[in-house]
Amino acid sequence: MPETSTPPASVQDRLRAAQPCLWTNPGRQAEVPSRLSVGTGTVGVEDMQAAVARFGRFAPLLADLFPELQASGGVIESPLVPAPALGRALGLEADAGALWVKCDHLLPVAGSIKARGGIHEVLEFAEQLALRHGLVAPGGDYRALASPEARALLGRYQVAVGSTGNLGLSIGVAASALGFRAAVHMSADAKEWKKERLRRRGVEVVEHAGDYEKAVAAGRAQAASDPFCHFVDDERSLSLLQGYSAAAPALQRQLAQAGIAVDATHPLFVYLPCGVGGAPAGITFGLRQVLGPHVHCFFAEPVQSPCFLAQMLAGPHDHPSVYDWGLSNQTEADGLAVPRASLLAASLMHPLLSGVFTVQDATLFQHLAWAHDTEGLRIEPSAAAGFSGPCMLTGTPEGRAWLRAQGLEAHLPRATHLAWTTGGLFVPDSEYDLFLQRGRAQPQAASA
Ligand SMILES: *Cc1c(COP(=O)(O)O)cnc(C)c1O
Repeated sequence: MPETSTPPASVQDRLRAAQPCLWTNPGRQAEVPSRLSVGTGTVGVEDMQAAVARFGRFAPLLADLFPELQASGGVIESPLVPAPALGRALGLEADAGALWVKCDHLLPVAGSIKARGGIHEVLEFAEQLALRHGLVAPGGDYRALASPEARALLGRYQVAVGSTGNLGLSIGVAASALGFRAAVHMSADAKEWKKERLRRRGVEVVEHAGDYEKAVAAGRAQAASDPFCHFVDDERSLSLLQGYSAAAPALQRQLAQAGIAVDATHPLFVYLPCGVGGAPAGITFGLRQVLGPHVHCFFAEPVQSPCFLAQMLAGPHDHPSVYDWGLSNQTEADGLAVPRASLLAASLMHPLLSGVFTVQDATLFQHLAWAHDTEGLRIEPSAAAGFSGPCMLTGTPEGRAWLRAQGLEAHLPRATHLAWTTGGLFVPDSEYDLFLQRGRAQPQAASA
C-alpha cells in the first residue's frame, strides 16, 4: 500500500498507528454525584477528606523521620508556578490562556507524584496496626510510632509492591522509614538507579524480566500467601487513589493564593501524565470535588502505552491491553509504561474526566529540554507528557471543536492551563544530562 501523507482520521486509527491523538469523553458530567462508583464500591468527598486528615495526623512523625520535611512541619507538598516562557515555547497563543506548572517533580521523600498515593497507603496500614495494637491512642501523638517498641512491632510486617520504579521508591522509602520490611517487585523497564536507591535503604528489590503488569502479578501472588505482608496493589487500591486526591484541597488553596479564579468564564485545564491511571484519577476525583464543573482534566499517555485511552474506548466490560492494539508498550517514559489500565481508575473517571491525549517520546524529550531551558524545571521524561496538552486543546481541529462544543472557546483568554510535572527530583545528573541532550537534539518543529 502506498504511504499517504494525510494523517489517519479517527482516534482509533491514530491510536493503532501510534500517532498523537486527542479523545474527549462523551460521558463526562458537569455535576459530580455525591457517591461515585469505583470498581465494586463507591467513593465520595469524605474519602478525600480522610486522606487529608491522615496526612495531618502523621505530619509531626514524618517531620521527625525525614529531615527534608522539617521545614514544612511534615507536610508533603509541591509549588504551583507560572510558566509563561514555556507556554510560548510550546506554542500556546497569548489569547489562549496562561500556562502554570504544578511541580510534583519536586515532591520530597519520593521525588514523584507517588509520594501522595504511596505514602498514604503505607501510613494507613501503619495506622491500622498501631491502633489495633495500642501503639497510639485515637487522636494521640503519632510520634509514638518512632519508639523502638513500635518499630519492632511494625518490623514484623512487610509492605510489598509491584512497580515500574517510582511507586516502588515511594513505598520502599516510606515503609522502611516506619520500620516495616519492604519488598519492591520491579519490571524490566525500571531504571537501575531507582533499584540502587532502594537497596541502599535496605529495601528488597525483586527484578522481573516482564513488564509492569507481570511485576504487579508476581508481588500480589507472593503477598497473598503471607498474612504479615501488605501488598500495595497499584491496579486495585482505593487507598492510593485517596492519597492522590489529597492534592486537590492543597491546589485549591494555591490557586486562590495565586489569584487564579476557576469559574464559568475562567476555565482550568489540567494535564496529568497517566500510567495505570491511579495518580491522575485520584487527583481528578479530588479536583472535581473541590472545583466543580469548570475544571477539565486530561490524561497524557505515550503513543506506545495508551492503556487508559484504550480502556475508555472499550467500556467497563472489557479490559484491553495496548498489545491488543498492536502497540509495543516501549517508551522512555518509564513511569507511564503500563500495558493495561486500572479498572478502578477507569470506572471512577467515566463521569469526571474530560479527555485523554497521546504523545510521542521525541516530543517528551523536546518538552523536557524546553522546560529546563525556559523555566529551569528539571523533570523526568514521564513528567513532560502533560506539556502537549495546551496545543492539543487550543491548536488542533479536534481540540477546537471540543472547546466550541463546550462553550469554552470564548473564555480561552482567561483560561489557565496547568501541566502537572510528576517526577524528577532524584534523577541522577548523569541520566538527566542525557535526557537534556536528547531533547535539544530534536528538530525544532515539535508535533503536538
Ligand atoms: C506513576 C507515575 C505517573 C502516573 O501514575 P499512574 O498512577 O501510574 O497513572 C506519572 N508520572 C510519573 C513520573 C509516575 O511515576
